[in-house]
Parts: sequence; C-alpha cells; structure tokens
Amino acid sequence: MSATVHVRSAVKSYGTTRVLDGIDLTAPGGQVTAVIGPSGSGKSTLLRTINHLERLDSGYVSIDGELIGVRVHGDRFKELSERAILRQRSRIGFVFQSFNLFPHLTILDNVVEAPVVTQRQRRADAEARGRELLARVGLADKAGAYPRRLSGGQQQRVAIARALALEPRLILFDEPTSALDPELVGEVLAVIKDLARSGTTMIVVTHEIAFAREIADHVVFLDAGRVVEQGPPATVLDRPAHERTREFLGRVV
Ligand code: ADP
Ligand code: MG
Repeated sequence: MSATVHVRSAVKSYGTTRVLDGIDLTAPGGQVTAVIGPSGSGKSTLLRTINHLERLDSGYVSIDGELIGVRVHGDRFKELSERAILRQRSRIGFVFQSFNLFPHLTILDNVVEAPVVTQRQRRADAEARGRELLARVGLADKAGAYPRRLSGGQQQRVAIARALALEPRLILFDEPTSALDPELVGEVLAVIKDLARSGTTMIVVTHEIAFAREIADHVVFLDAGRVVEQGPPATVLDRPAHERTREFLGRVV
C-alpha cells in the first residue's frame, strides 16, 4: 500500500535561480520523512515535483519504481502519459499550509468530492467512509458545517481527512501548521502523529523541530536547493555533522 519515493539528481530552475540544485533523497515506504530548512531552500518545490505539479529540468523522481519524468543531458524529456500522471497523483495526498477547502461545500462534501468525482466511488460509500475519517480527526460532529464556521486547526484536520479519503499510498504535508495560531498547532500535530503510526509513507515539511524529532524516521536538511545532510533524527537534529545545520537549528529551536 505505501510507496517508496526516490529523488535523484533533481534540478529545477526558475529563470536563472536553481531552486533544486541536484537533490538526492529517499523516502522509505511506510516511514515518515521530515524535511527541514530555511525559507526559500526549495522545500515546497520539492514536494510539488513529487506530486507532478512541477516538472524537473533534469534528474528524476520515482514512486515505487515508476518514473514520473526524466531528462538526462539534453535528451528529450520522457515522462508518464497524462493519464498515468493523473492516476499516480490520485494516490498522493497533499496537505497545504493554507487548508484550501471548498468554501461552498459542507465539511463532508469537501471530504467526498474527490473520491466521487475522480475515483467514481458511489456517493453513499464515500460518505460512509468520509464520516469515519471525520471521526478519526475528531470532527464527527462537523460533517454538515461549512468551512467558515471552523477554526483553522479544525479546517486543517478536514484537509487531512480529505487527503485520506483518496486512500493515498503517500501523503505530502507542506508546513501544515504554519498558518495556525499557536494554540491550534497541537491538535493538528496530534492527528499527523496518529497517521504516522498507520504505515503510510509521509513526507512532512515542517518548522516544528520537536515534532520532527518525535515522529520522523528520517530527517532531511535542505539549504539553497541542496541536501546538506540526512539521517535519523538523533543524528541530524541532535548531533548534526554540518555547521550549516547547527546554525539553522540554533535559530529555529
Ligand atoms: P521553501 O518552500 O523552502 O520556502 P520554495 O520551494 O517555495 O522554498 O521556493 C524556493 C525558491 O524558488 C524561492 O526563492 C522562491 O522564490 C522560488 N520560487 C518558487 N516557486 C516559484 C515560481 N513558481 N516562480 C519563480 N520562482 C519561484
Ligand atoms: Mg514552502
């Protein structure tokens, strides 16, 4: 069910800026990989390439051995067909910093929209499953409410339930708590922590270092589009090998 992600020699530029400058990393299947690094280091771009929202200039990303796209030394860009990309993306959950719920749909409809429309699930089945997922994130009683009636923390928990409704084999989180008031961060982290035990592959971009230490199997420190170091949290976060990592951790902790 859960997928291993390989990123190899990934390069992506916007204009003359190399945002990803030769990234190599592996997010092992069923494990939690935390990505940390300063603002502008390429964390969001990395997640967007994994979800096919951006195309690499060179290098590749593979998910369970299936290449997303590759261009080597000026060769023609070879990539999956549009249909294969959509199929693969439909099994990747993406949770954004800004929850991105549909404001005109109820909470339950937000959760069942994609399964019904893109996966053609029967609405009754999708709703039954959607209610289970809302219960799992502690929002069983909000199924009929509209997003504007919910706090930021509740909206982000709905966004997580929505991602889970696609039964993803990989979930990408892009700073899921950084738009929240401090008192709402804990409830969202608790839900993500619960998911981490379920064995779905997760890649979590976060500024919450204590949280990364707690849930991550693997930590990747990115700076200026490069992986400075990666390894178990006890190494990268507590005994980093590189001065740049120490400096970053000294600033954010
Ligand atoms: P992070 O998530 O680590 O803060 P990003 O991946 O968002 O970093 O951005 C890395 C760099 O790429 C930044 O300098 C940002 O301004 C630039 N960038 C990101 N997306 C675009 C884009 N669509 N067009 C031009 N520049 C971009
Ligand atoms: Mg970002």
